[in-house]
Amino acid sequence: MAETEKTMGQKKQEQLSYKRTNYFETASAAERKEMYDYAEGYKAFLDAAKTEREACDYCVKAAQEKGFTEYRLGDRLAVGDKKYFINRGKSVVLFRVGSKNLEEDGVRIIASHIDAPRVDIKQNPLYEDGNLAFLKTHYYGGIKKYQWTAIPLALHGAVVLKDGRKVEIRVGEEPGDPVFCITDILPHLGREQMAGPANKLIEGEQLNVLVGGLPYDDKEVNDKVKLTVLSILNDKYGMCEEDFLSAELCAVPAFPARDVGFDGALIGAYGHDDRVCSYPALTALLDGESEHTVLAMLVDKEEIGSEGTTGLQCKVYEDIIEEIALAFGANFRKVKAASKCLSSDVTAAYDPNFPSVFEKMNTAFISCGTAMCKFTGAGGKSGSNDASAEFIGEIRKAFAENGVVWQTAELGKVDAGGGGTVAKYVAKLNIDTVDLGVPVLSMHAPWELISKADLYSNYKAFLAFMK
Ligand code: MN
Ligand code: MN
Repeated sequence: MAETEKTMGQKKQEQLSYKRTNYFETASAAERKEMYDYAEGYKAFLDAAKTEREACDYCVKAAQEKGFTEYRLGDRLAVGDKKYFINRGKSVVLFRVGSKNLEEDGVRIIASHIDAPRVDIKQNPLYEDGNLAFLKTHYYGGIKKYQWTAIPLALHGAVVLKDGRKVEIRVGEEPGDPVFCITDILPHLGREQMAGPANKLIEGEQLNVLVGGLPYDDKEVNDKVKLTVLSILNDKYGMCEEDFLSAELCAVPAFPARDVGFDGALIGAYGHDDRVCSYPALTALLDGESEHTVLAMLVDKEEIGSEGTTGLQCKVYEDIIEEIALAFGANFRKVKAASKCLSSDVTAAYDPNFPSVFEKMNTAFISCGTAMCKFTGAGGKSGSNDASAEFIGEIRKAFAENGVVWQTAELGKVDAGGGGTVAKYVAKLNIDTVDLGVPVLSMHAPWELISKADLYSNYKAFLAFMK
């Protein structure tokens, strides 16, 4: 059958119009398989690394397997070096030293975060009430509190004992482990609760994690259930109640990452924000080859404003770039001015169940590739980095040359709300920076969703950026 000749209008429309594309649709069968294969490694990372400490450990181990060695401030550096810098066990910077002139070429940075919203355990948390033992909590990051009730939770973290020894705790992830949970009231008695605003359905001080129910077998003591819990903690970790004072424990969803949908096109998991960017940053840095000096900064505390010694506002991340410049006698200011950064964090994907908060022309769609946000912020772009047309043009060209399927994104309708990323902190160093990351459904929920196509697109985008 002969193909019908296209009309002039049809031809012009093809040439001149922009339309985002579904990456699954344009990918070859081989590439689709690559997407699904790559997702398997990502799911393993999600299950192994639910906290920043675990993510840091995972990345260090993966880097060591690829021949990377530890870098400490002040160490010598040579072209070809493959290094990782550990910041207090909660953040890691991986880098390769390239052969290009640092003053002319700068460094290429991918910055993403490895902390995620969760429920932190307070410093004096353990009590007994109604024949049950609980841990009091203080949530971390922006959560809808009601979503964290009536789901299985795991406890992760570290405790520094009285004698200075540190013990790691991870309960609820292995088959046979117990899990924990936060209770909710039955609907039969929920009339008052359900009539209130959603932010009052469960209040901060009701997010108490149930951790025990067996009374200690001794008639002479009070708080028997609490004592059973203390006694188990003592047997397993050498802990006493006072050791909670110097502990950093948190409750995270206990379920593993799973394929979602009959076709397994999506992945459901806790903590896609921002592991869906940090895993591609890690693997692109380990797998890629480049003459540029490239860094993956996988940082902590983004969810609470990038503060503290492990958040991206800490000077140590700038210090590392300065150390690299110093090692080669390059002018630090010139190196920064020539550097480029992808601030890699997730964005909101269009949710057909909530169309009213999105502006369809400028929202990221699931499976249309990693999404570039020229600006984030709220209201009149307040708190935004707002990357330049020139820099975006440069990145766009690199993506086109490397066959990266990508899209642009805005978090939602102009007046619907907003959010920020680490972009503005990197930009402050006089480094051109733009946001790029994977669209997520149900962001900050205990169970977030992403598309395998977008995950793989993000990885390919990072390879192209570092090339
Ligand atoms: Mn994020
Ligand atoms: Mn977030």
